[in-house]
Amino acid sequence: MNIALIAHDEKKEEMVNLALAYQLILENHNLYSTGTTGLRIMENTSLQVQRFLSGPLGGDQQIGAMIAQNNMDVVIFLRDPLCAQPHEPDIQALLRLCDVHRIPVATNLATAEILLKALEQGNIAWREAIK
Ligand code: PGA
Repeated sequence: MNIALIAHDEKKEEMVNLALAYQLILENHNLYSTGTTGLRIMENTSLQVQRFLSGPLGGDQQIGAMIAQNNMDVVIFLRDPLCAQPHEPDIQALLRLCDVHRIPVATNLATAEILLKALEQGNIAWREAIK
């Protein structure tokens, strides 16, 4: 499975902790991220992440392009709900594409954990049917 990991600045620590907690699951998949999020994950875990540009420079759009081509299976996007981001249109576009292509997307830690647990049990094999 191809999994995208994105976190806004206020959520980066949460993302690192999530990656640490689920490292044994995540290491079996192809991981993609925006620039800084991926750097922080790789600095703090032994996971390998393919990093795109930083979010404000177009990283969200690069991940969106993978979604549009049906090359992304799960998106974990820990958003900061309290602070407007300069690249808000890109963020909305990415989430819209997830809905267009029926990609499971988690925007907070609770849903992220549910998705990762489903992944662990092989419970999102239904994605294969859509591909
Ligand atoms: P970053 O981008 O990982 O490069 O900080 C995330 C975002 O703000 O979309």
